[in-house]
Amino acid sequence: MGQQISRRLFLKGGLATAAGLAASSIPGTAAATQPDEAKQLATLLDIRKCIGCEACMEACSEVNFNKYPDPKKPFPKMYPNRVPVEDWSAKKDVNDRLTPYNWLFIQHAEVEINGQETELTIPRRCMHCVNPPCVKLCPWGAAKQLENGISRIDADICLGGSKCRKVCPWHFPQRQTGTGLYLDLMPSMAGNGVMYKCDRCYNRIADGESPACIEACPEDVQTIGPRDEIVKKAHALADEIDGYIYGENENGGTNTIYVSPVPFAELNKAIEKGKGKPHLKSVENTMAQANNLAAAMFVAPIAGIAAAVGKFYKRTK
Ligand code: SF4
Ligand code: SF4
Ligand code: SF4
Repeated sequence: MGQQISRRLFLKGGLATAAGLAASSIPGTAAATQPDEAKQLATLLDIRKCIGCEACMEACSEVNFNKYPDPKKPFPKMYPNRVPVEDWSAKKDVNDRLTPYNWLFIQHAEVEINGQETELTIPRRCMHCVNPPCVKLCPWGAAKQLENGISRIDADICLGGSKCRKVCPWHFPQRQTGTGLYLDLMPSMAGNGVMYKCDRCYNRIADGESPACIEACPEDVQTIGPRDEIVKKAHALADEIDGYIYGENENGGTNTIYVSPVPFAELNKAIEKGKGKPHLKSVENTMAQANNLAAAMFVAPIAGIAAAVGKFYKRTK
């Protein structure tokens, strides 16, 4: 009954209030703002050091457990039947790819170093792009970029349409059906779930702590700091080991910078790729493409309104 009253309130009077909130929020929406690189935090990953022990993955699951989806079943039937169900709730233990329950996994690459067959292990999760298309092109304002460069998807607002996954050059975000706002708003017509990915432990960083994967690593594979310092460290390390850099310029620049003793083109050939298993190819700046720039300008105000309506709806529930 309470929920019915809330819905009626939302549909009758609430929309006007939400629209007012939206109007005031548009200039500040993530989609409308430009990134300030000077304030962004980046991580450096020294691939040589990683031993593939998976302590980082376990730590990620432990600290982010309460952010994982808890879907309601049976799932509503979709009309039209074009959005496939993506249900990982019975496969929470899958850890050899990204899923809504596994935001970080380890890729394996057999390569030759100084004539010796060597296995390298590479921790993979969202790159936290400096100018993230997942944020700029999310039609609901559910994906946001924080001032420190972290991009995250607000599970309270996301409708699971998966635009973020489509526009991400690595297709990082993963959908879980049967959870989120669509169940209340448009159970048979929306994107059918919520998208999940690494949020760089934004809440831990806000509390002055390190991301769990960094803290748990016994080999100190990752270093976190202001982006300009991390870029300098990455170049110094690459010079020292005669190595290669990935992430500094990919997609116009990311806040995740890998240094490897072998070229990334070789690593990319050696890793298993596919759904939930991202590549290591070089990536052009997707947000510099005219169609994406135009789409971002179009999406920003709509996303601002949608996000404000979504927030208001959550409050009335
Ligand atoms: S890597 Fe993909 S999901 Fe992560 S911030 Fe960039 S576009 Fe978004
Ligand atoms: S930064 Fe946090 S959320 Fe992202 S992979 Fe590491 S532990 Fe997981
Ligand atoms: S905890 Fe460190 S060494 Fe172990 S797999 Fe993760 S990054 Fe590699």
